[in-house]
Amino acid sequence: MSEHTITVAGVAIDTRHWIGGERVASAQTFPDVSPIDGSTIGGISRGTAMEAAAAVAAAKAAFPAWAATSRAERARILHAIADGVEKRIEELSIVETTDNGALLRSHRRGVMPRVAHNFRFFADWLLKLEHEDFETRGHTNHVSWDPAGPSVLITPWNAPLMLATWKVAPALAAGNTVILKPAEWTPLTASLLADIAAEAGLPAGVLNVVQGYGSEIGDALTSHPDVRRISFTGSVPTAKRIAESAAANLTPLSLELGGKSPLLVFADADLDLAVDLAVEQYDNAGQVCLAATRFLVEESVAEEFTRRFVEKAGQLTQGDPRDAATDIGPNIHPLQLEKIDGFVQRAVAAGSRAVIGGHRKDGQYYAPTLLTDVAQDSEIVQEEVFGPVLTLQTFATEDEAVRLANDTRFGLAATLATGAPERAERVTAQLVAGTVWTNCFFVRDLQAPFGGSRHSGVGREGGTWSFDFYCDLKNTVTSPNGWNNHG
Ligand code: NAD
Repeated sequence: MSEHTITVAGVAIDTRHWIGGERVASAQTFPDVSPIDGSTIGGISRGTAMEAAAAVAAAKAAFPAWAATSRAERARILHAIADGVEKRIEELSIVETTDNGALLRSHRRGVMPRVAHNFRFFADWLLKLEHEDFETRGHTNHVSWDPAGPSVLITPWNAPLMLATWKVAPALAAGNTVILKPAEWTPLTASLLADIAAEAGLPAGVLNVVQGYGSEIGDALTSHPDVRRISFTGSVPTAKRIAESAAANLTPLSLELGGKSPLLVFADADLDLAVDLAVEQYDNAGQVCLAATRFLVEESVAEEFTRRFVEKAGQLTQGDPRDAATDIGPNIHPLQLEKIDGFVQRAVAAGSRAVIGGHRKDGQYYAPTLLTDVAQDSEIVQEEVFGPVLTLQTFATEDEAVRLANDTRFGLAATLATGAPERAERVTAQLVAGTVWTNCFFVRDLQAPFGGSRHSGVGREGGTWSFDFYCDLKNTVTSPNGWNNHG
C-alpha cells in the first residue's frame, strides 16, 4: 500500500488526483475530517492550477478517440461501471457515510444503487437518442448530437457520489471527457469512482478527478479555454464566481443551486400525510437542496398540523449515521453548524419562537428545529439554511399561499398537500418551481427534467436535457438535388 493510500473501514482509498490514467500527488495535502466524530480521516492531495491544467490537457488529449467511440461501446463501458458500483455498494456506502455523515442505511438501500442506475440510464438513453428527420420544401433535416469536448464537473458534499454521477454519466455517454472536482469536505468516493471506471475499461484521460479547495483550483478549471462545458451543483455565491470565470470563453454552464422550497398544506389535505411529508424535510440533517423548508399551512388546520408534527418529529432518533436506528445524523462541518446556529439565533433575536429545537447538541449535531412567528421578509424565510431548520407560516386564502410560496429569490421545488385535484392544478400552474410534488415528496425519475428557476439554477438535467447540454446539436439539411448520378 502506498503512502498515498488511506483506509476507511477496511476500504483502501488513494488520496491523489487521477489524471490521464495515473495517480498524481500534489506537493501539499488538506485534511479530510469525518463529521461523525471530528476525527481526521487522512490528507488529500491539495490541487493547484498546475494539476488543473494537467487534467484539462489529459481530457483534451483523450477526447477525439472517446468521441469517435461507437455509441454501443460507450454504453457497454458505462454498464460495466454500473456493475463495478453494484459490486462495491457496501464499500462505497460506508466510505460516503464516514465522509459526509449521511445515513448508512440510505446509502446502502437507496443512494448507491441509484449511482449505478445513473450510468445504466444514460447508457440506455444514448442508444435511443434520436430526433425524427423532417422535410423542408423537399430537403431533409437530420438532427444529431455531437460530443462537445472536455467538461468540468464541480459537485457539493451533501450527496457526493450521487450528484457527481448525475453529471459524469451523461457527459461520458455523450462522448465528452471529464474533469470531476468533488467538494473538499467529501473527496473520497470520487477517488473510488476513478478506480471503478478504470477497472471497467474506460480509457485513460476520459475521466479525470482533481481534488482540492474550490477557491484554489476552481478558477483554473472554469476559465480554461479548452473546457467546452461546465456543470456545477452548489451554492449561489460560488455559481456567480464560476459564471464570471466562464464568461471569458463563453463556456456553456449548467447550474443546479440552492432552494428555499415551500410545503403548502391546505385544510382539505390528509393531515397525517401532510405531517409525514413535513417530517421528511429533516432528511440528511436538512442538507438537501430540494427540502421544503418553509411550511405554509392554512390557518384553520395550523394548530392541529403543528401538534401532530411536533409529536412525529419527537420520535426521530438523532445520532451516529452508521446505526440502523438513526434518522438524523450530524451536520457536515463545524463551519456549517456555526452557520446554521447563526441563522436560528438571529431569527429568535428578531422575535421567532422555536417550537422544537433551536440549539446545538453535543458534537456536530443540531437539534431538529421548527420556528414560528417568522416574517416573510426575514432572513430565516428568505435564505437557505442547509440544516435541520424549518419555518411555519399560516395563510388564509389560496392566493395568499401562492404569493408566499413564490416570494423568495429561489424556485427549485414545491410540495403540495391537498385533497382537491382542481386546487392542485390551479396552484401548480402559478408556482415558480422546477419540480412540484403533490401529496408526495422526492419521487425522482431520470427521464424528468430536473433543475430550478431564478437563483435555483440555469438549465435542466435528466434524460434528453442532459444530452442537449453536453452536446453540440447539429442540424444537417440535405437537398434532393445536386447528386452525381452513379446509376
Ligand atoms: P459550494 O458552492 O460551497 O461548493 C460546491 C463546489 O464548488 C465544491 O466542490 C467547491 O470546492 C467548489 N468551489 C468553491 N469555490 C469554487 C470556485 N471559485 N470555482 C470553482 N469551484 C468552486 O456548495 P456546497 O456548500 O458544497 O453545497 C451546498 C449547496 O449546494 C447548497 O446551496 C445546496 O442547495 C446546493 N445543492 C444544490 C443541488 C441541486 O441539485 N440544485 C443539489 C445539492 C446541493
